[in-house]
Amino acid sequence: MKTYDFIAIGGGSAGFNAARVAAGLGMTTAVVDGAKELGGLCILRGCMPSKTLLYMSEVLHLARHGKTFGLHIPSARADLAAMQKRKRRIIVDFANYREKALHAGKFDLIRAHARFADAHTLELSDGNRIRGRHILIGTGSVVATPPVPGLAVAGAWTSDEVLDLDFIPPSVIVLGGGIVACELAQFLSRIGSRVTLIQRSEQLLRDHSPEAAGAVRDALAAEGIEILTGTKPLKVSRGQRGFSVTFEHEGSRVVRRAAHLFNALGRRPNTESLSPGAAGIRTLADGRIQTNRWQQTNQPHIYAAGDCAGPVEIVHVAIQQAELAARHAAGCRGLKPVDYSLLLNVVFTDPQLATLGLTGRQLRDKGVPFLEASYPFNDHGKSILMEANHGFVRLFAEPRRGRLLGAEIVGKDAGELIHVLTGPLALGATVHDLLRAPWYHPTLAEIITYPLEEIAEKIQSDS
Ligand SMILES: Cc1cc2nc3c(=O)[nH]c(=O)nc-3n(C[C@H](O)[C@H](O)[C@H](O)COP(=O)(O)OP(=O)(O)OC[C@H]3O[C@@H](n4cnc5c(N)ncnc54)[C@H](O)[C@@H]3O)c2cc1C
Repeated sequence: MKTYDFIAIGGGSAGFNAARVAAGLGMTTAVVDGAKELGGLCILRGCMPSKTLLYMSEVLHLARHGKTFGLHIPSARADLAAMQKRKRRIIVDFANYREKALHAGKFDLIRAHARFADAHTLELSDGNRIRGRHILIGTGSVVATPPVPGLAVAGAWTSDEVLDLDFIPPSVIVLGGGIVACELAQFLSRIGSRVTLIQRSEQLLRDHSPEAAGAVRDALAAEGIEILTGTKPLKVSRGQRGFSVTFEHEGSRVVRRAAHLFNALGRRPNTESLSPGAAGIRTLADGRIQTNRWQQTNQPHIYAAGDCAGPVEIVHVAIQQAELAARHAAGCRGLKPVDYSLLLNVVFTDPQLATLGLTGRQLRDKGVPFLEASYPFNDHGKSILMEANHGFVRLFAEPRRGRLLGAEIVGKDAGELIHVLTGPLALGATVHDLLRAPWYHPTLAEIITYPLEEIAEKIQSDS
């Protein structure tokens, strides 16, 4: 039986990057991945295909509103076959690139499913066994199906099917109000489907502030998506003409029907088939693998990173966690844990919603004193000329010196704009430092100077 210094289970964002770093540090390394197609969720069925389709539907949306810009575009409509062709071409390129990197890495690539036989030994689906001095679990997540009567057997679409659609569905009920639900509900609506979104929580995008989530909700509703929040789903059924969902809403029993149903109720860690119990690994109540700040499980030589560990399902965090784990396993010195006070999150709806650092809610919960200021896009030159009037920029800063603590941007290309602040936040910049920087006119980014100035003035008047 071959023994490696480091084995990554999974060749997605977490596993691939852990193996790359481990091998680079001189450890004998293997990646074990049992998927038919290599590439991981982000490339094959997550970030990249969804953002490709969302961008195409944004172009369609702009073309349909050509009149606003003085343009005569008589018939702009989605050609799903052509859109899929373009998406596939792009995704196949990304996947080929990753597959080449997996084959050409300084590590062994083993195409098999793995499960723990004991804390150092993996049993592979090809009948072999391998041993690892260190093992990283990077097995990702799978779609969750909550216990709504009828849902598990109804044959609802998941994001996988929505991302592969080659026709325009006449009507779709979207169950859920998280990031994937909102992004793909808008995609479906823009290509021409009648969309009803049914969400259990009172607020769409419940991890975000009511104001930010409200701005996204207003934009989706303005495009014709029916949004029902604060519901209690009672049952799902499928008949000859499609699906019906029965739920309680504002004290009444309500039924909505549509040709298709999209289950966007979230994902759960993909750890069951791995038999973590055989290695004595502790999991949390929601199935996530419990880790410490170095990504170690309760078995110190076994690490976990990415969606199977949480606390978030975000690619750059999966990579940071995985690289940290590999360096820790190699015994590198001077390491720092992943800093979640710099957390960056983007919702790719239009308007986009991006948050950075600590949110107002987190600051209040932690009892951290802060100043805040915001400015709306409907009063800003560049966004007005672009007809991009939804949303605002809000900044949070420490009240004495004005050190930036966090930011929230809802608006056109907020996911790009927020990066103006990521470096300054990581470097501990103050609002005064940021005001010394040049801001070009007219840009969307210069809107950030207004809340910066407001906070700087508050600090001056308080001192
Ligand atoms: C529709 C959608 C859109 C998204 N958009 C974004 C976005 O815009 N930005 C963002 O940051 N995040 C986005 N995400 C989330 C992001 O894709 C994930 O957080 C990220 O891909 C997780 O990486 P991972 O390495 O943990 O898991 P994965 O990439 O899923 O890799 C897990 C790998 O493990 C393998 N595996 C599983 N079990 C075993 C086993 N027992 N043995 C061997 N191999 C195994 C699988 O085959 C797979 O290749 C999106 C997700 C979805 C669903």
